[in-house]
Amino acid sequence: METKKIVVGNLKTKMDINDISKYLKIINEQVIDKEVIICPTSIYIPYFLKQRYSVGLQNTFVNDEGTYTGEITPKQAVSMGIKYTIIGHSERRIHLDETDELINRKVISAINSNMRVILCVGETLEEKQLLKTDMVLRRQLVNALNGLSIDMLDNVTIAYEPVWAIGTNNVASNKEIARTANYIRMILHQNRGYENMRVIYGGSVNEQNIKELNQIENISGFLVGGASNDAKKFLKIIEEVVVNQ
Ligand code: PEP
Repeated sequence: METKKIVVGNLKTKMDINDISKYLKIINEQVIDKEVIICPTSIYIPYFLKQRYSVGLQNTFVNDEGTYTGEITPKQAVSMGIKYTIIGHSERRIHLDETDELINRKVISAINSNMRVILCVGETLEEKQLLKTDMVLRRQLVNALNGLSIDMLDNVTIAYEPVWAIGTNNVASNKEIARTANYIRMILHQNRGYENMRVIYGGSVNEQNIKELNQIENISGFLVGGASNDAKKFLKIIEEVVVNQ
């Protein structure tokens, strides 16, 4: 298992090209760490390549070969030097009806093309209130990682992203996050015989709460959405987690 913490920036679909060029002026000059993985909207990816940080996609397609209009295959991503892909983000599960089964096929396809997968899992507010968090996480993990060998699992990082925490300013407590990270590791151990899975947290992480969140001992980094779209806020988060580690 890699021991250095990572920070993943999910830029989603908020910035246009003018915003991107202002953003890059700051980011390209200051971010020099391979442990920072920036995932821009795919049309802007070429502007982010060949820098000192890493680049990821927000999604990759389920197959490598064939004609699938509008999609990006893992093989194409790798040919551009892109190593990471986010799979199973809750916005895709919700708005694009991505199922556990589809997510599993995407994970396998990406790893078979030598990509590293950031697999998002997390419960909704309703599931949390019904005390179904553990059940939901177990289902998402077991299904998404079905059929993966130990070697394949080495290329997976689990992002625990409670849906109720994404873009809401409702951050999970350190205690909740630590407990859930342990639970995720236990599932991986029980179900796949895999030890010490790397687990990161995402959900309303920002430049103000990062110091406290970074105290959680069993977390290997953070997935940042909204705050990663602001270069100065993102730099503060990077400094706290990656630069000072
Ligand atoms: C995300 O969408 O992955 C995310 C963590 O968003 P935010 O940081 O805005 O909650």
